[in-house]
Amino acid sequence: MSSMASILRRKSTHKLFLLRARLFSVSTSHDKHDKPSQQIEKILIANRGEIACRIIKTAKRLGIRTVAVYSDADERSLHVKSADESIRIGPPPARLSYLNGSSIVDAAIRTGAQAIHPGYGFLSESAHFAQLCGDKGLTFIGPPASAIRDMGDKSASKRIMGAAGVPLVPGYHGNEQDVDFMKSEADKIGYPILIKPTHGGGGKGMRIVQSQSDFVESFLGAQREAAASFGINTILLEKYITQPRHIEVQIFGDKYGNVLHLYERDCSVQRRHQKIIEEAPAPNVTNEFRSHLGQAAVSAAKAVNYYSAGTVEFIVDTVSSQFYFMEMNTRLQVEHPVTEMIVGQDLVEWQIRVANGEPLPMSQLQVPILGHAFEARIYAENVPKGFLPATGVLHHYRPVPVTAAVRVETGVEQGDTVSMHYDPMIAKLVVGGENRAAALLKLKNCLSNFQVAGVPTNINFLQKLVNHREFESGNVETHFIEHHKEDLFVDPSNSILAKEAYNAARLGAFLVAACICEKEHSTLKDSSPGGHSLPSIWYTHPPFRVHHHARRVMEFEWENEYDSGGFKLLTFMIIFKPDGNYLIETGEDGSPGLEVKTTHLGEHDFRVEADGVSMDVNLAVYTKDRTRHIHAWHGSHNHHFRQKLGIELSADDETQHKTSYETGSAPPGTVVAPMAGLVVKVLAKDGSKVEEGQPILVLEAMKMEHIVKAPSAGLVQGLQVTAGQQVSDSIVLFKIQG
Ligand code: ADP
Ligand code: ADP
Ligand code: MG
Repeated sequence: MSSMASILRRKSTHKLFLLRARLFSVSTSHDKHDKPSQQIEKILIANRGEIACRIIKTAKRLGIRTVAVYSDADERSLHVKSADESIRIGPPPARLSYLNGSSIVDAAIRTGAQAIHPGYGFLSESAHFAQLCGDKGLTFIGPPASAIRDMGDKSASKRIMGAAGVPLVPGYHGNEQDVDFMKSEADKIGYPILIKPTHGGGGKGMRIVQSQSDFVESFLGAQREAAASFGINTILLEKYITQPRHIEVQIFGDKYGNVLHLYERDCSVQRRHQKIIEEAPAPNVTNEFRSHLGQAAVSAAKAVNYYSAGTVEFIVDTVSSQFYFMEMNTRLQVEHPVTEMIVGQDLVEWQIRVANGEPLPMSQLQVPILGHAFEARIYAENVPKGFLPATGVLHHYRPVPVTAAVRVETGVEQGDTVSMHYDPMIAKLVVGGENRAAALLKLKNCLSNFQVAGVPTNINFLQKLVNHREFESGNVETHFIEHHKEDLFVDPSNSILAKEAYNAARLGAFLVAACICEKEHSTLKDSSPGGHSLPSIWYTHPPFRVHHHARRVMEFEWENEYDSGGFKLLTFMIIFKPDGNYLIETGEDGSPGLEVKTTHLGEHDFRVEADGVSMDVNLAVYTKDRTRHIHAWHGSHNHHFRQKLGIELSADDETQHKTSYETGSAPPGTVVAPMAGLVVKVLAKDGSKVEEGQPILVLEAMKMEHIVKAPSAGLVQGLQVTAGQQVSDSIVLFKIQG
């Protein structure tokens, strides 16, 4: 099989782009099949965001009508605009809308859809929902409810897999749960041990136990957490693999018992147990390994009579090169596009055809590997705060242009809000190339040009990740970020890097200043050539004239990402020269003025020449909270500057100002919400005495919980929030009086 794959690979590499182009065009590999008896003509998509848009794209191409569902928070969102019809299903909280199975089924019946595609997340892995669709005469575009049920329990699924001969991590996954019995099992397996809730997900309740003496306490803690989070407190034990890779196999089955795999994806690069970069095929593995892994995944799927798309996750011990079954995800996965890129197929189309009762369109030997693909997940998140989800308005959103080898999967447009109700993913950037190096180069380039302003994102962090030499070599593992944190979260005391960053920022500021002044100057001279269409926001602070030249002092704050998101003040003197150029002085000892010339290329695009260097710069400008924000992209850099605007505060603003602080500006002892979210628990009373580091309350946003702790010992003051309350980012939660 693997030798056949490599022959196919050699033969078809040059066809890569041809096939890519076909991916979303009309001709398909299925054309040769007869028309199935009961065709799906209208699909309701029980999801939102990019995955809903993704499914709509394929449905449209196949001539299938689509119905979008939406909560009140999404009424005007892209997935609603993209569908043929839309229907409201409830208020913003997911449990009242996107997780409300019966109202979604009712919506499908009311709109005359014959089938429901659940996407991923939400109800996609609910056996109950799949069953409900069937009971109401609707086709569930996914696997049989029985397979979802079998794979939903990690212990039961391991027992099924063990019986089917799929390798398992050494461990205990039986029904006996007595603590002494479990401890004796753990002793047999050997430490370190990983304790996992059998019905868990999202890494919740998992605990690593390093030695015998810690077992009992960790076990009882995990039981409590599992009961609270999943309503079931059963636990399984696994040998903890200290240097693993996460490699998963895309499988596909039809209703006639045929199952094949579409190769593997490496999803090792994770933060908070969540994937951020995926690639296919996995780097640095042999064809023999690849073939064994694929066969094991097919056996796993056959053991539960699987059909539709599924993913079998394996954990690979990099020391022994052994792979072990971890779990099966019974749905289309977030990262499915990297597989589509390398096999030149549309998996949503396959899902619809299988749901229609068609057989798989090809045999295992016909599945090609056409090069290499990466996916980077672009999130609204606060990297320096530990990757906490962020919320806000996308004031500027300019993703890279889509080509045959670059896909941007997104559910948002410029001006949309990333809310606290759902996943903070803004887009998935998917790129393909003839080999890993070619795809990686494209990924780097696209990340440099992917422009988002208004909310903090992980784009700069992704850039650092993909430029890391170990990532370039394909040496990925699940602790990649942790192991390379010195390179990825650069220490501000590292003077060379700090200086480089500072110089880059300074240059960026020159460019920004010059661009802003160009407009002001040309307005001053009243010689605007007409093509300038900058917003009026550019014209504040008229410059003053000294000795026939206009001069201006400008103050910017530059966001120094190497300093936990802090801002650094930069001050310049700008002198407008008679020849139309500008002289920029920083006031630093001995630093000569820099002569800058700018040419306006388009609404937000400039060519800047300074010091013999010429470069193109793109700008985004918006105001928020009495501050003007300026983002500048040039080459592979981007910088964020802000300028305080001298606007009088109204009485309302004053109150607001007292309770909300920007990063780092809150008075000492004041604790602000590190992210927008729901208060799930308040653990201390107002006025009580607490120790340093004591948990005060628990915040939840999307799939993550964040514990807010006391920064120092003292008395808790002003703790007003209660469980069930939504809080916005930076709002004051309480103070500690020491
Ligand atoms: P994967 O392994 O494919 O990343 P996960 O199970 O971690 O899958 O989650 C898949 C995606 O489903 C998440 O990235 C998120 O976008 C979405 N999702 C999961 N649960 C929820 C939820 N409760 N609300 C909204 N979106 C969710
Ligand atoms: P979830 O349902 O949260 O996705 P998984 O069982 O898939 O739970 O595990 C999530 C992550 O935890 C994996 O991607 C891997 O990084 C890590 N992990 C799981 N099992 C082990 C193990 N036995 N040893 C080491 N790491 C593990
Ligand atoms: Mg998993």
